[in-house]
Amino acid sequence: MGTIDLSKSDPNFRDQLTREPGGEQISACFVCRTCTASCPISAVNEKFNPFRIIRLALYGLRDEVLKNDFIWLCSSCYACQERCPQGVSITDFMTLLKNLAFKEGHAPVGIKTQMELIKAQGRIYAIDEFDNKKRNKAGLPSLPTSCDVVKELLA
Ligand code: SF4
Ligand code: SF4
Repeated sequence: MGTIDLSKSDPNFRDQLTREPGGEQISACFVCRTCTASCPISAVNEKFNPFRIIRLALYGLRDEVLKNDFIWLCSSCYACQERCPQGVSITDFMTLLKNLAFKEGHAPVGIKTQMELIKAQGRIYAIDEFDNKKRNKAGLPSLPTSCDVVKELLA
Protein backbone atom coordinates (compact mmCIF):
# COMPACT_ATOMS: atom_id res chain seq x y z
CA MET A 1 0.00 0.00 0.00
CA GLY A 2 3.02 2.30 0.34
CA THR A 3 3.86 4.84 3.03
CA ILE A 4 1.01 7.03 4.26
CA ASP A 5 1.86 10.43 5.75
CA LEU A 6 -0.66 11.15 8.51
CA SER A 7 0.68 14.62 9.31
CA LYS A 8 -1.98 16.19 7.07
CA SER A 9 -4.85 14.13 8.46
CA ASP A 10 -8.17 15.95 8.90
CA PRO A 11 -10.22 14.05 11.52
CA ASN A 12 -13.42 15.78 10.37
CA PHE A 13 -13.12 14.37 6.85
CA ARG A 14 -14.03 10.84 7.90
CA ASP A 15 -17.06 12.10 9.87
CA GLN A 16 -18.16 14.23 6.93
CA LEU A 17 -17.97 11.23 4.61
CA THR A 18 -19.84 8.84 6.90
CA ARG A 19 -22.78 11.27 7.05
CA GLU A 20 -23.19 11.34 3.27
CA PRO A 21 -24.99 8.76 1.07
CA GLY A 22 -22.37 6.24 -0.04
CA GLY A 23 -20.08 6.87 2.90
CA GLU A 24 -22.20 5.42 5.71
CA GLN A 25 -20.48 2.02 5.86
CA ILE A 26 -16.84 2.83 5.13
CA SER A 27 -15.82 2.35 8.77
CA ALA A 28 -16.94 -1.29 8.48
CA CYS A 29 -14.12 -2.04 6.01
CA PHE A 30 -11.98 -4.83 7.45
CA VAL A 31 -9.24 -4.65 4.83
CA CYS A 32 -9.96 -7.88 2.95
CA ARG A 33 -9.10 -6.20 -0.41
CA THR A 34 -11.86 -8.04 -2.27
CA CYS A 35 -12.79 -4.71 -3.86
CA THR A 36 -9.37 -4.21 -5.38
CA ALA A 37 -9.21 -7.85 -6.49
CA SER A 38 -12.58 -7.41 -8.24
CA CYS A 39 -11.82 -4.06 -9.87
CA PRO A 40 -11.24 -4.10 -13.66
CA ILE A 41 -9.50 -0.71 -13.47
CA SER A 42 -7.06 -1.86 -10.78
CA ALA A 43 -6.25 -4.84 -13.00
CA VAL A 44 -4.84 -2.54 -15.69
CA ASN A 45 -3.72 0.50 -13.68
CA GLU A 46 -2.03 0.06 -10.33
CA LYS A 47 -2.54 3.76 -9.55
CA PHE A 48 -6.19 2.98 -8.98
CA ASN A 49 -6.92 0.97 -5.85
CA PRO A 50 -10.37 1.24 -4.18
CA PHE A 51 -9.17 -0.38 -0.97
CA ARG A 52 -6.38 2.21 -0.68
CA ILE A 53 -8.74 5.11 -1.43
CA ILE A 54 -11.03 3.95 1.40
CA ARG A 55 -8.03 3.74 3.77
CA LEU A 56 -6.86 7.23 2.83
CA ALA A 57 -10.39 8.55 3.44
CA LEU A 58 -10.63 6.80 6.80
CA TYR A 59 -7.28 8.33 7.79
CA GLY A 60 -8.70 11.76 7.01
CA LEU A 61 -6.34 12.52 4.13
CA ARG A 62 -8.75 14.89 2.41
CA ASP A 63 -6.32 16.47 -0.05
CA GLU A 64 -4.69 13.21 -1.02
CA VAL A 65 -8.10 11.79 -1.91
CA LEU A 66 -9.89 14.77 -3.44
CA LYS A 67 -7.01 16.40 -5.30
CA ASN A 68 -5.86 13.20 -6.96
CA ASP A 69 -7.01 12.31 -10.42
CA PHE A 70 -7.20 8.60 -9.56
CA ILE A 71 -10.73 8.77 -8.13
CA TRP A 72 -11.93 9.69 -11.62
CA LEU A 73 -10.69 6.38 -13.01
CA CYS A 74 -13.57 4.47 -11.38
CA SER A 75 -15.93 3.31 -14.14
CA SER A 76 -18.88 2.73 -11.74
CA CYS A 77 -19.14 -0.92 -12.75
CA TYR A 78 -20.29 -2.00 -9.24
CA ALA A 79 -18.14 -5.19 -9.24
CA CYS A 80 -16.59 -4.15 -5.90
CA GLN A 81 -19.85 -3.11 -4.27
CA GLU A 82 -21.55 -6.40 -5.20
CA ARG A 83 -18.75 -8.39 -3.54
CA CYS A 84 -17.82 -6.41 -0.43
CA PRO A 85 -18.49 -8.75 2.53
CA GLN A 86 -18.97 -5.76 4.82
CA GLY A 87 -21.66 -4.07 2.77
CA VAL A 88 -19.53 -1.03 1.96
CA SER A 89 -21.17 0.88 -0.92
CA ILE A 90 -17.83 1.34 -2.64
CA THR A 91 -19.13 2.51 -6.02
CA ASP A 92 -21.48 4.99 -4.38
CA PHE A 93 -18.57 6.12 -2.21
CA MET A 94 -16.48 6.80 -5.32
CA THR A 95 -19.37 8.90 -6.67
CA LEU A 96 -19.48 10.80 -3.38
CA LEU A 97 -15.74 11.52 -3.64
CA LYS A 98 -16.12 12.68 -7.25
CA ASN A 99 -18.96 15.01 -6.26
CA LEU A 100 -16.95 16.48 -3.37
CA ALA A 101 -13.88 16.89 -5.58
CA PHE A 102 -15.97 18.63 -8.23
CA LYS A 103 -17.51 21.00 -5.66
CA GLU A 104 -14.02 21.90 -4.43
CA GLY A 105 -12.79 22.56 -7.96
CA HIS A 106 -10.51 19.53 -8.32
CA ALA A 107 -12.21 17.76 -11.23
CA PRO A 108 -10.14 17.04 -14.35
CA VAL A 109 -10.50 19.54 -17.20
CA GLY A 110 -12.50 17.06 -19.31
CA ILE A 111 -15.14 16.61 -16.59
CA LYS A 112 -15.43 20.38 -16.05
CA THR A 113 -15.83 20.90 -19.78
CA GLN A 114 -18.57 18.27 -19.96
CA MET A 115 -20.40 19.97 -17.08
CA GLU A 116 -20.18 23.34 -18.83
CA LEU A 117 -21.59 21.81 -22.01
CA ILE A 118 -24.48 20.21 -20.16
CA LYS A 119 -25.27 23.49 -18.41
CA ALA A 120 -25.09 25.45 -21.65
CA GLN A 121 -26.90 23.13 -24.05
CA GLY A 122 -28.38 20.33 -21.95
CA ARG A 123 -26.20 17.75 -23.70
CA ILE A 124 -22.54 16.85 -24.04
CA TYR A 125 -22.96 16.35 -27.78
CA ALA A 126 -25.27 18.89 -29.41
CA ILE A 127 -27.68 17.62 -32.06
CA ASP A 128 -28.29 19.87 -35.06
CA GLU A 129 -30.30 19.63 -38.26
CA PHE A 130 -27.40 17.93 -40.03
CA ASP A 131 -27.52 15.09 -37.47
CA ASN A 132 -31.28 14.85 -37.86
CA LYS A 133 -30.96 14.62 -41.65
CA LYS A 134 -28.59 11.69 -41.19
CA ARG A 135 -31.00 10.10 -38.71
CA ASN A 136 -33.94 10.54 -41.08
CA LYS A 137 -31.92 9.04 -43.93
CA ALA A 138 -31.31 6.00 -41.75
CA GLY A 139 -35.04 5.75 -40.99
CA LEU A 140 -34.72 7.20 -37.48
CA PRO A 141 -36.97 9.99 -36.13
CA SER A 142 -35.61 13.50 -35.57
CA LEU A 143 -34.48 14.45 -32.07
CA PRO A 144 -35.02 17.83 -30.42
CA THR A 145 -32.06 20.13 -31.04
CA SER A 146 -32.29 21.77 -27.63
CA CYS A 147 -32.60 20.40 -24.10
CA ASP A 148 -34.01 23.39 -22.25
CA VAL A 149 -35.43 21.21 -19.47
CA VAL A 150 -31.92 20.09 -18.47
CA LYS A 151 -30.67 23.66 -18.63
CA GLU A 152 -33.50 24.74 -16.33
CA LEU A 153 -32.73 21.92 -13.87
CA LEU A 154 -29.09 23.00 -13.61
CA ALA A 155 -29.70 26.75 -13.58
S1 SF4 B 1 -14.19 -5.42 -0.09
FE1 SF4 B 1 -15.17 -4.15 1.51
S2 SF4 B 1 -14.29 -4.86 3.44
FE2 SF4 B 1 -12.97 -5.64 1.80
S3 SF4 B 1 -11.35 -4.06 1.60
FE3 SF4 B 1 -12.95 -3.54 0.11
S4 SF4 B 1 -14.30 -2.10 1.22
FE4 SF4 B 1 -13.03 -3.14 2.76
S1 SF4 C 1 -17.09 0.45 -9.32
FE1 SF4 C 1 -15.12 1.51 -9.59
S2 SF4 C 1 -13.87 0.83 -7.85
FE2 SF4 C 1 -15.56 -0.59 -8.01
S3 SF4 C 1 -14.81 -2.30 -9.26
FE3 SF4 C 1 -15.83 -0.87 -10.67
S4 SF4 C 1 -14.21 0.52 -11.39
FE4 SF4 C 1 -13.41 -0.55 -9.57
